[in-house]
Amino acid sequence: MGTTLALLPLLLLLLSLSIHVPCADAWGKEGHFMVCKIAEVLVFSISVAYLTENATRAVVDLLPPVAGGELAAVCSWADEVRFRYRWASPLHYANTPGVCNFKQSRDCHNAKGEKDMCVVGAINNYTSQLRSYGDNLTESLMFLAHFVGDVHQPLHVSFADDEGGNTIIVHWYRRKTNLHHVWDVSMIETAMKDYYNNDLDTMIESIEKNITDEWADDISSWETCNKRTVTCAADYASESITLACDYAYKDVEQDSTLGDEYFLSRLPIVEKRIAQGGVRLAALLNKIFDPLTSTIQIE
Ligand SMILES: [Zn+2]
Repeated sequence: MGTTLALLPLLLLLLSLSIHVPCADAWGKEGHFMVCKIAEVLVFSISVAYLTENATRAVVDLLPPVAGGELAAVCSWADEVRFRYRWASPLHYANTPGVCNFKQSRDCHNAKGEKDMCVVGAINNYTSQLRSYGDNLTESLMFLAHFVGDVHQPLHVSFADDEGGNTIIVHWYRRKTNLHHVWDVSMIETAMKDYYNNDLDTMIESIEKNITDEWADDISSWETCNKRTVTCAADYASESITLACDYAYKDVEQDSTLGDEYFLSRLPIVEKRIAQGGVRLAALLNKIFDPLTSTIQIE
């Protein structure tokens, strides 16, 4: 993927997340907002098919009043209830035993070993809930929108030993932080500042422009997978651990200082993952709420 400026807006969005309480569990607030905003695409009329009218109506009907009709407004809700819903905290990520591949049977469980208690199991579960009109559909929708964002953050599918980079202390330019936080928040913040005039909408526009230009030919492959499972979430997790090894962990050790070289070579990854999260969330919501017109077939 190119390192064009167009990627930068995505980063900016991610940066704004950092105002939040330190959270080891997610893209920052901005990152999640961008993923959902891109999925909604209510702002721009782009040629790519995002949410269909039927799906948009179904989503808006399920949103809580506080959302004001906008999915992006409640995209970080799952982080806000982290302490109330302790059982859900393993659902934000998946860990591997120090290897650069994801195996659902091996890696998708909580600390008690309960199966499917990881981000991939959660995406499949909440998709099934919504498709079968289960209980608490509003919460299922808010969880789903959030976890589709999380599974695209490379360090949300990474090594158990370092807790997804949380125990790897680094300096982001001059500021002391940890590697996980760099990917959740710092890179987006720096991008916002350096390229997007600290304006999240500008960053989103830039990412959307890349979706319609640079990545236009890739979109159909983003939306599909060959697995006969509820969703393609296991594939997204496999992509993330590969990116974690090839980019996030690469050339980083305890007390590393990360600056321009790291930022400029990794920012395009962050922006592309936000774009993929948005496009795939839209595809999934279409598949759930508008199966007849969706390009994706339900098995
Ligand atoms: Zn999360």
